Amino acid sequence: MANIVWHTKLRIHLDLTLDDLGHEEHEGLWDMVYGMDRMYAARAVPVAERDLQCGGVCQEAGVVAPMHLRMRNERREAVHERREDEDRHTVTISDEHKAYQERILRAAEAGGFCGDNEVRTRVGRSWIQTDTLIEGADGLRVGWEVQLSTAGTDGPRSVRARAAKAQKNGITPAWHTDRNDYAHRHDTHWTRSNNLPAHVIAKIGDLRVISGFRKLDFWHCDLHADHPCPHGVRRCGKYHATPVPKDVLFDDLVRNTAAGTIVPVQFRTLNKTHRFWATRADHNRYNDLLNNDHQLPAVTEDVRTPSRASHNHPTCRPDLTTTASVTATPTTLQTPTDRPSGLLVVQPTAPVLETTASQALGESALADQARSANAGPESLETLIELQRAANAARNALQRLSDHEERERQQYVLLEAAQSAQAAITRYATSQGLNRFDVQQTVRGAAHDT
Ligand SMILES: [Zn+2]
Ligand SMILES: [Zn+2]
Repeated sequence: MANIVWHTKLRIHLDLTLDDLGHEEHEGLWDMVYGMDRMYAARAVPVAERDLQCGGVCQEAGVVAPMHLRMRNERREAVHERREDEDRHTVTISDEHKAYQERILRAAEAGGFCGDNEVRTRVGRSWIQTDTLIEGADGLRVGWEVQLSTAGTDGPRSVRARAAKAQKNGITPAWHTDRNDYAHRHDTHWTRSNNLPAHVIAKIGDLRVISGFRKLDFWHCDLHADHPCPHGVRRCGKYHATPVPKDVLFDDLVRNTAAGTIVPVQFRTLNKTHRFWATRADHNRYNDLLNNDHQLPAVTEDVRTPSRASHNHPTCRPDLTTTASVTATPTTLQTPTDRPSGLLVVQPTAPVLETTASQALGESALADQARSANAGPESLETLIELQRAANAARNALQRLSDHEERERQQYVLLEAAQSAQAAITRYATSQGLNRFDVQQTVRGAAHDT
């Protein structure tokens, strides 16, 4: 079964979870479509010729999957004709995939950005499904898609089309993989990390992006140049740009793409378009170069290299439930200035939390922690309060320019954001509600007042 059906003649998606199938302008649409399908069935018209196809998972995978409709226990259902199409819907998300999704959310939140997993964004009569959607600075939205070795050997189809659709609708696509062959496709700006087991991905230690991020070298095409002239064998006397592979930490990539300081670049050579990520400063200089290659493009921005040298080993991951309950009592924590400074420089997110939590929590705080772990679900008002606190922390962060103050405030924000997120999760679980819906409601309410 599936919830979304594509009607090939009417050329619309039908959302079976909605009374009006998502088309209030067409009254009685279900009765019409269902009646027609019944009639076809009575006339023994093959399912494949009945105008209905899976408009969800199968369509996204580039597969034409015929469907028919039925009523079961007063519920509308669409059924795949073929078993193999049905199976496509039940592919479980691997632990590695989940670990990446969690890591993206955590990294973003530590940078002052929020996001959610498995987000469906409506665009006109269809939608965009995103593994993890991060709400970045100034309305920037980054849509992470994780494609791992565990996903099968064929690889994702119609990546170019999906990425283009996202881009067109204001979502910057960010596809990440652990496979060499995907990383070398030029259909989108792939980034790649090593093939790692879930428990390592979930850890808070360094996770490197080994391809997909590049630095642009700008150089003068004369006899002293290291690179060959891209236009021919002679030295042309103009300026050129050459992309050079560069390491970046995955968490930094998540945060900087959300901040808009790392952006996707389309780099054109004579016969190919290369797609990769680069700093916004490099991107701007590249555009300047395309406009005028007779002078070296000026450096217009203070470029903070997003990748910092780090030799720390992956460390233990703080237990998530403990983290949630600890952060539910942020006032009992000492200020971040008390923690060992070395930790902050390398990984400002969870190691700090872990160390601070274990060192700074006194006995009464631990009691609070135990109490809050056992406490019942919060009320909606509590959630809104927590969200307001997170909003306030985020606003405060945006006003700061001093590096140290920002890092300190990022910590405060991390605490507040995690409290709010954890409370929303507990609330949604306890009430049997969709987590994303709860989050939207809470955010809306916290924003309005
Ligand atoms: Zn399907
Ligand atoms: Zn040249």
